[in-house]
Amino acid sequence: MAKVLIIGAGGVAGVTAHKCAFLAESFAEIVLASRTLAKCRAIARSIKERCGRDIEVRQVDADRVEETVALIEEVRPDLLVNLALPYQDLALMEACLATGVDYLDTANYEPPDVAKFEYKWQWAYRERFEKAGLMALLGSGFDPGVTNVFCAWAQKHHFDEIHQLDIIDCNAGDHGQHFATNFNPEINIREITQRGRYWEHGEWVETDPLSWSMNYDFPEGIGAKKCYLMYHEELESLVLHLKGLKRARFWMTFGEQYLTHLRVLENVGMTRIDPVDFNGQQIVPIQFLKKVLPEPASLGPLTKGRTCIGCLLKGVKDGRAKTIFVYNICSHEESYREVGSQAISYTTGVPAMIGAKLMLEKKWRKAGVWHMEQFDPDPFMDELNRHGLPWTVLQLP
Ligand code: NDP
Repeated sequence: MAKVLIIGAGGVAGVTAHKCAFLAESFAEIVLASRTLAKCRAIARSIKERCGRDIEVRQVDADRVEETVALIEEVRPDLLVNLALPYQDLALMEACLATGVDYLDTANYEPPDVAKFEYKWQWAYRERFEKAGLMALLGSGFDPGVTNVFCAWAQKHHFDEIHQLDIIDCNAGDHGQHFATNFNPEINIREITQRGRYWEHGEWVETDPLSWSMNYDFPEGIGAKKCYLMYHEELESLVLHLKGLKRARFWMTFGEQYLTHLRVLENVGMTRIDPVDFNGQQIVPIQFLKKVLPEPASLGPLTKGRTCIGCLLKGVKDGRAKTIFVYNICSHEESYREVGSQAISYTTGVPAMIGAKLMLEKKWRKAGVWHMEQFDPDPFMDELNRHGLPWTVLQLP
């Protein structure tokens, strides 16, 4: 009888908590703990209304290892699912090691004072998790997450060698707001305003932020969209694990309105992550900006349209060149109907539930710190089809 402790009560945690609650046979008990108890209670109420199940709620400051340790000792979960922010990753991994509990997250650790997306801090935990016989699964969202699984599945079933990888993330939805981010604004803006980076012939190549773009014609009526090259964290592990890889890039679509607002906010200093003195108080501009922007969770009822996130893979099979695009399309409106969230939270929260399910069922289980592509992709691909994120593979000329 598996018990899961979910940390965080934002857009993504809301989806994961609902999806776990719908699967009583896999998640017998659910505890949802976050900094703001009222947000946990609101999710618990929605779950009760939608499926009649009760979940437990708790308050915790996940930056304080001793608080999480006390919570884990009280609750005794089989797995901790970290859906708070990347800043909490290391503190939560420490708490798991102190109490002997497995760990899962959806985003790599970032130091609050420098926007750096690197796995080195979490990779440093490998030996301690291995020695303790514990497992940490990193990046079980969509990207990272499903994109890593798509690559592992393509490597297993479609290619002898993958030479080129382009991960393409398209949000063709619209929330009707002047400017809003679909997940935590601070994390989102830090990610988008950093320098671009891609991997070619064994080396990282840097580009100015959002300075490279391409048009990609998305399937199923979504059509052509402009996509911008960015650095994204899953590239760091994928370049180590895909055989024969020569180039790996990540692209994301942005509308003109979004980019114009972002440019202005950057130009006036509102995206700065260093503290400034304001009337004798130290304020970090991007944190203040987060406070005045719409909460991602509030965009659920407003967002219309679909997302399409996929991997364009080129390589060879049996001596012949081959190109495939493996992708999922997710509707904002259908996500909202099912769990009360827009598709960005949905496409992250569902894979977090699936990763947790596979770990609890021991289908994905080994001691140490692991990435998604290091496991057999087949059970994960099956679960995506069953739990709301069906995928399609196109053979391209
Ligand atoms: P939100 O900002 O909506 O939610 C974050 C939650 O974490 C909030 O409930 C917040 O509490 C809580 N939290 C923050 N600090 C603490 C703390 N010290 N202790 C306890 N709780 C805390 O973010 P999202 O739900 O949009 O994103 C959640 C995670 O998912 C992020 O790490 C994000 O990077 C990741 N993500 C991953 C994606 C993927 O595809 N892999 C895609 C999208 C997101 P409070 O309400 O008090 O602020």
